[in-house]
Amino acid sequence: MRSDERQASNLAGLVGEVLACRLCQTGGYLAAANPIRPALIEAPRIVLIGQAPGPVTDRKGYHFAGPAGSFLSAWLDRAGFPPNYFREHVYLTSLTRCFPGKSPSGNGDRPPSRAEMGLCRPFLDRELAAIDPPLVLLVGKLAIDAFLGKQPLTATVGQVFERDGRLWLPLPHASGVSRWLNAPENRALLDQALSELARLRVELSLQGRPATMAT
Ligand code: SF4
Repeated sequence: MRSDERQASNLAGLVGEVLACRLCQTGGYLAAANPIRPALIEAPRIVLIGQAPGPVTDRKGYHFAGPAGSFLSAWLDRAGFPPNYFREHVYLTSLTRCFPGKSPSGNGDRPPSRAEMGLCRPFLDRELAAIDPPLVLLVGKLAIDAFLGKQPLTATVGQVFERDGRLWLPLPHASGVSRWLNAPENRALLDQALSELARLRVELSLQGRPATMAT
């Protein structure tokens, strides 16, 4: 079996397990689990990890169906990727796969708890192991903290990190209501991050399939 066929087989096997998962429901963290179906795309070379599904994603049933998806797609366009690269070539996933619900304060969505992230993490680790991407985009502080350790966004956005044999590029939360991006100095960090992404797009030949994966 070729490596891309093995990868597709491993990911396909994950879909049923994700859709059947009710761990956060039986654990009392969610009233009703509604896992988002992993989107299987051919030979992805970038994995993008967000925080958790929002209400639009929960309703529509695919990752980043809401405003964050539009922002992220536009950011990839700014980094020089072809139109629709975000949807067609990036493997989209998140720390947890069920909408955590609204925040009790009424201000936005509830971030997933440490316990929920722990229950869902094995799915994410299996996705990374199956795909083995050269580049991972971490979107939002929770995703960045989960893989790079807890630190301020200002210390990570605009930098590229090398861990576990791959590159990790942090991005801010892309909801469109992120107050972090209101500050000019933070928007400059986003510009720097997208410049780094543009550089990696060329250096890692991310627009084309690598020769070893070509049919
Ligand atoms: S968030 Fe993850 S671990 Fe929790 S029920 Fe949904 S799929 Fe399962």
